[in-house]
Amino acid sequence: MCRCGAAVAVATTTTTTGAAVRTGTHRTRDRRRDRRARRTTTTTTTMKASTDGGAREDTSGRRRARVAVIGAGAAGLAAIRACEVEGHTVVAFELANDVGGTWRYESEVEDDEGEGASAAPDDGRRAKVHGSMYASLRTNLPRELMGFGEFPFHESHGVDERRFCGHEEVQRYLQAYAETFGLRERVTFNAKVTSVERVVREDAEAERAWSSQWAVTSSIDGGAARREVFDAVIVANGHYSEPRVPRFKGALTWPGRQVHSHNYRTPDGFEGKTVLLIGAMASGEDISREIASVADRVLLSARTWQNPEWATSVEGVGAQGNIYRKPNVASFSPDGSVEFEDGSVEHRVDICMYCTGYRYEFPFLSRDVGVAVVDNFVAPLYEHCVAVDAPSLSFIGLPWKVVPFPMFEIQSRWIARMLSGAVPMPSREDMVTFAAQLESTLEPHGGVPRRHAHCFGDKQWEYNARIASMSDGPGLESWREQMYIATGKNKRANPETYRDAHMSDAEALAAALDEFTKVATR
Ligand code: FAD
Repeated sequence: MCRCGAAVAVATTTTTTGAAVRTGTHRTRDRRRDRRARRTTTTTTTMKASTDGGAREDTSGRRRARVAVIGAGAAGLAAIRACEVEGHTVVAFELANDVGGTWRYESEVEDDEGEGASAAPDDGRRAKVHGSMYASLRTNLPRELMGFGEFPFHESHGVDERRFCGHEEVQRYLQAYAETFGLRERVTFNAKVTSVERVVREDAEAERAWSSQWAVTSSIDGGAARREVFDAVIVANGHYSEPRVPRFKGALTWPGRQVHSHNYRTPDGFEGKTVLLIGAMASGEDISREIASVADRVLLSARTWQNPEWATSVEGVGAQGNIYRKPNVASFSPDGSVEFEDGSVEHRVDICMYCTGYRYEFPFLSRDVGVAVVDNFVAPLYEHCVAVDAPSLSFIGLPWKVVPFPMFEIQSRWIARMLSGAVPMPSREDMVTFAAQLESTLEPHGGVPRRHAHCFGDKQWEYNARIASMSDGPGLESWREQMYIATGKNKRANPETYRDAHMSDAEALAAALDEFTKVATR
């Protein structure tokens, strides 16, 4: 842990949240965007030095902090936007040469031949690919539900007008979001954050009031390391990049090919094969259908199913009727066969694909940060977001089984407003109590597996409302929950066709469009 003296701050500045750039085909939309971007642009504010180091205070007593954001995917962009609105100075670091994160499709894959190869620890030498999108991916949520509140996602940003659109459309939407609010200017691209160290302030009062500072080391294009000190760090590095591969008996000596869905792009190479997919959440269900269009047989094995009735189905499903649902794998054998927990054996399986999810990884966080990942549980954090030991460190987007973008927006607003002093930082007592209560629900004390600690599902709505209220900001309109429920029902009823099937959400959709009109004219 480093200690450093407070830096002296500046006097007068002009904050700019960036100019709008024309992006699409819709002129009206562009004009609205221009208006919205201008609303938070070029406010001249008198600043005075604050007692807490690099941060400054404006005439209203609001603190303007220097904030580092790690990642410029949807979460990082929301964080940049919220910090800019609150008047902070933001420096975002992004590994790639564009915004979008997961939605920036990469055809490259990692080498994951052999069980667990891509689950090996990141020693910095393995060639890594961030993205896990496959070429044909369409969203599993309708676009209206997916989009940010401040920047509705209903008109097309290209040629894809489908409600459940292709990944390219989401990437264009995120690019438009970044351009509209001038977020790109805050991002250093091709910049990898390699270390984040805690810097405890010498001024004990400032340390108590505003928490620690952070030394962030980064490198552009693998070049020389650069170390800068920030008042706060927002981690938004995503959690769909590091494959999680459960250990099954016999997997190491099984002769078939083993891959993780992180490295799936197209069904090429699966022609005529018998393919076992383990895990039947969104990716397992979707990829099994695509592979079944060329494979001989597909076995989809899972412990839990999106629709409980699927657990007992024995008929072949899918367009070709060649997908067979199976229980969990019991063991792999050196003769190439696979045994399932119901005792059934499949004698010839060519390829096993793990659709078993991902691990949270923060290879840049130094030990003194006080946050660790144990069995995919990031702790101790207040509200799955703020580091209990030093609340100027926060994480956007850890919860899963959620509607991510609006949640990113709500979390980001809360963090940005806490950093400015617009809303109070949680007391240490509240944070410790929250962390202890969450811990008590997890195995071995409670019944929730530790790796499910950040799994939200239905409780996301209550969480969003709580965080929004702590930020003194608006929560989500009820149509989002209604549309989410309608989508889930549709998916369970029509697993093959739900993206194009009629959805009974007319009321929610009308409320959504009503809200979007209000946002556009605001
Ligand atoms: P990411 O998009 O992963 O962005 C993280 C960024 O951080 C990346 O750009 C990365 O390059 C950067 N980064 C990482 N480490 C560093 C470092 N050390 N230094 C600098 N930069 C770094 N969500 C939906 O709402 N609807 C869907 O239909 C949907 N489908 C999905 C399908 C798949 C296959 C996957 C994997 C996810 C899907 N999601 C979907 C969830 C999706 O992950 C979220 O929508 C969202 O994009 C996550 O954003 P993020 O910013 O948290 O992470």
